[in-house]
Amino acid sequence: MRQEEAIQLSLEYINEIVLFFATNGSISYANASAKKLLEYGDHLLGSNIGDVFPGVFTVGESVEEQAKPLLGQFRELDAYRGNRTCFKVEVSFSCFDEDLYVCIATDTTEGSYLQRKIDQVQQEATEAAKVKTEFVANITHELRTPVNGILGNILELKDIEEDPKKQRVLALVERGCADMNAIINNILDFSKLESGKFTIEKREFDFREMVRYVESNHRPKLSAKGLEFTISIAPDIPQKVIGDELRIVQVLNNLLSNAAKFTSVGRVSVEVVKTSRIADRIELFFLVIDTGIGISKENQDKLFQSFSQVDASISRRFGGTGLGLNICKQLVELMDGSIHVESDEGKGSMFSFHIWVDLPESECNQAGEATALGTYATPPYEMSLQDHMKDSGMEAMRTYGTDENFTEIERNLNKLILSVEMENWEKAESFANVLRELTENAPKEMKNQALRMKMAVQKEDYDKTAMAVDSMRELLTR
Ligand code: ADP
Repeated sequence: MRQEEAIQLSLEYINEIVLFFATNGSISYANASAKKLLEYGDHLLGSNIGDVFPGVFTVGESVEEQAKPLLGQFRELDAYRGNRTCFKVEVSFSCFDEDLYVCIATDTTEGSYLQRKIDQVQQEATEAAKVKTEFVANITHELRTPVNGILGNILELKDIEEDPKKQRVLALVERGCADMNAIINNILDFSKLESGKFTIEKREFDFREMVRYVESNHRPKLSAKGLEFTISIAPDIPQKVIGDELRIVQVLNNLLSNAAKFTSVGRVSVEVVKTSRIADRIELFFLVIDTGIGISKENQDKLFQSFSQVDASISRRFGGTGLGLNICKQLVELMDGSIHVESDEGKGSMFSFHIWVDLPESECNQAGEATALGTYATPPYEMSLQDHMKDSGMEAMRTYGTDENFTEIERNLNKLILSVEMENWEKAESFANVLRELTENAPKEMKNQALRMKMAVQKEDYDKTAMAVDSMRELLTR
């Protein structure tokens, strides 16, 4: 008995509308929610189920036939209030015995309202993102015109200007325009990638020629910094492949620019190997390795996010938008690949990425003989940065007192003195920085000399610089 009472009480106070009605449609029980939501007051008892759900029941007709298709399932219906306004409910009907039907209905007004709100907010967010992307695309497009205008005029001026001082200023403005163009292009690519408007354009190209072109972009700067630069391409990579040459160049250019930016001693190398072949597609694996400042473990995860630069002070010194690696990641993914980094702070970084390219018909047969369908050649993943450092003798070069270290110090002292004699103090300062790195774990006397030399270079003091160079050489021979 107590249990029945408890069930009755629960029915009375649940949030759902509960109505009992007879075969003639007359309502014999309505719980508190029904009375409140249907706003019949005390008249609900004795009213007809057809008054509440006129869409499915007709007053005066037997409920039996009309209820049959509704039994045991949930339906969305309009429930009518006493004042003939209506609201949406999710409703189920059941039949208990011949003359007792039960209706349980949930008011979905709030739910549908919330859903409508969510849809509206989602639509607004999509539109805002679209407007932002279009705005960024328009602005960058508009910026490009005046920058190219300035660049054109500068080139004309450079042709007619004879004064070397003015030529130097013009060269600076030209460099500024080129940097600005690079930033504009990055933002344009980024906004296109974000809006999904970016497409990969495949066509046949000469793979080795493409790598040579990338090499020619970077060799002058790397050589000017005194860095060794090597490129190796596995012989089983075919001459011609089909892919988006421009975008592969873009990824390599970005990785190599970073390598050049963040490396002051040692070497930068690029390696390309073929790791897999499935039917007429091959997987190419690229490694870009440097012996630069490296990236801490915690910062490596952030690297491929947009606008992420590891260290604000480093970025101020080197510039950049923090978009480059994110663009690389998205481009590589569009070419069915992925990009990774392995790095040791203070020792160097190894960026690796793989992409898939198609084989032209002319290469299909030859390349097919080399690798069986779908088999994987040994991937170079196992080659760690540490191995590379050992291979290239970098560790020895950075360890004060080794033959390699002394040779490198001597080399940089020579280059520094040459720069000073040519009054190129900027370049001399970069060699002074390298010398400080090479003497990082030297005895105090040597470290102090390297610091004194850097200060003398910064003050553009020829005598003090020459003295510091002599002192360092003397310490080396001791
Ligand atoms: P940016 O256009 O600013 O160079 P990137 O996305 O290319 O942007 O690089 C983001 C940051 O990652 C750089 O600012 C730098 O801090 C770090 N980074 C990238 N490549 C290297 C590298 N080879 N060595 C050390 N740090 C690097």
